[in-house]
Amino acid sequence: MASSEPQPKPAKPHVLLIPYPAQGHVNPFLKLAKALHARGFHVTFVHTEYNHGRLLRARGAAAFDAGDEGFRFETIPDGLPLSDLDATQDIWALCKATRRTGPAAVRGLVERLNRAGDAPPVSCVVADGAMGYVVHVAKEMGLPAYLFFTPSGCGFLAYLNFDQLVKRGYVPLKDESCFTNGYLDTPVDWIAGMLPGARLRDLPTFIRTTDPDDTMLTINIKQCELDSPAADGILLNTFDDLERRALGAIRARLPNTFTVGPLGPEVAPPSYLPSLTSSLWRGDDRCVAWLDGHAEAAGSVVYVNFGSITVVTGEQMDEFAWGLAAAGSPFLWVVRPDMVRDGGGWALPEGFAEAVAGRGLTVGWCDQEAVLEHPATGGFLSHCGWNSTLESLRAGVPLLCWPFFSEQVTNCRYACEEWGVGLEMPREAGREEVEAAVRELMGAEGRGAAARRKAAEWKEKARAAVAPGGSSCANLERFVQEMALAKC
Ligand code: UDP
Repeated sequence: MASSEPQPKPAKPHVLLIPYPAQGHVNPFLKLAKALHARGFHVTFVHTEYNHGRLLRARGAAAFDAGDEGFRFETIPDGLPLSDLDATQDIWALCKATRRTGPAAVRGLVERLNRAGDAPPVSCVVADGAMGYVVHVAKEMGLPAYLFFTPSGCGFLAYLNFDQLVKRGYVPLKDESCFTNGYLDTPVDWIAGMLPGARLRDLPTFIRTTDPDDTMLTINIKQCELDSPAADGILLNTFDDLERRALGAIRARLPNTFTVGPLGPEVAPPSYLPSLTSSLWRGDDRCVAWLDGHAEAAGSVVYVNFGSITVVTGEQMDEFAWGLAAAGSPFLWVVRPDMVRDGGGWALPEGFAEAVAGRGLTVGWCDQEAVLEHPATGGFLSHCGWNSTLESLRAGVPLLCWPFFSEQVTNCRYACEEWGVGLEMPREAGREEVEAAVRELMGAEGRGAAARRKAAEWKEKARAAVAPGGSSCANLERFVQEMALAKC
């Protein structure tokens, strides 16, 4: 006989999301978090105390206020000594410190959340691929755990082969001469799934070491040999059409790999929990209005941004400034306050403002996706961080690639050779090279125009992937089902 007693509502699945504490990681994680929340999950999003402080300063308390919506933020320490909020953290030191203190911090957090009892018990964990140790903590606690790798599929595939590079004797490099004697041009065509013609120099720069115990080399090997196979599944912010060959090789090793990208407005519309943002700097509000002023000439503006970590010298900045001035296109240039090495005092060169005569806007930070989506934007001079590359593809904007480190060099090679959306700028570019490269990118004919046409094609494919019926949309739903069923 059916009871007339009201039945308790089944507990919602409760996902704990733990991004690596850097801008290029928290951004896609927040989009994933909103997508899961929109699909019925209770979400706890974990920042480091340092990043929480930075967000609070950049965005105020609203950045954490989802109302009574089952979306909460928690913090854990990052293991580094407390520093002031302007002293951008050393990424290597951070990597080591989080590995040391992270396991106990994550365990303590799960226990505390479950003890508090004001939310459903934590039922699954999605941790950053750069924090693979979380998988082992979750497993010890009886929780399903997934790893979200925020780099490209091609970058991840390269990391998966770091162990082979060591076993086959390519890495560590014999000595410093390998940086300059052509050794980095050695082909690595034995890596299944890599684009034809790939060379050592196209693999993430962490292989460019002479030290067999190099931190980033060994961390990446461990993550790919031990942590990733221990996870219940792998998430990648990419889509099948874009990286079919690399993804085939990844899935051969890690079959439960979900491609869910590009994580953008389709999965996390700006109108959904709009005050929850992840930008660690406050964007300059003038950008969109300035672009509006150039909207009549669609695609006329070159956008210049090297992401959240890249640091350059004052001399390089001067060369970029004069190159941009000479190239003739209007430009929007983001110069982070901490971008110039030892250069608290760097300022635009004397005479620059007169030379560009109102043709350029220089800001400290912007809402990049809004800039890329703006019709006035016609080219992106980028360091090829994966988020920037994917956001540019999604917006149909061709790239002028100036990769800096990590898998940015891999993304650059794919953008130029495989996807046809990029032109590569020489690493040691002086003002003449910058000018020539920007002119070529923005030109109505030639390689820039060809890259623009390709970018328009990828824009359609990228949007199709996340639209209903698309591969990433289907994968996200499959991932949601799997996680919801896994709830304890
Ligand atoms: N970003 C932004 N405004 C800026 C610079 C960067 O919103 O002025 C965002 C950008 O949209 C991207 C992220 O910061 O989502 C940078 O990630 P990416 O992987 O491109 O590079 P990283 O900062 O990790 O080198």
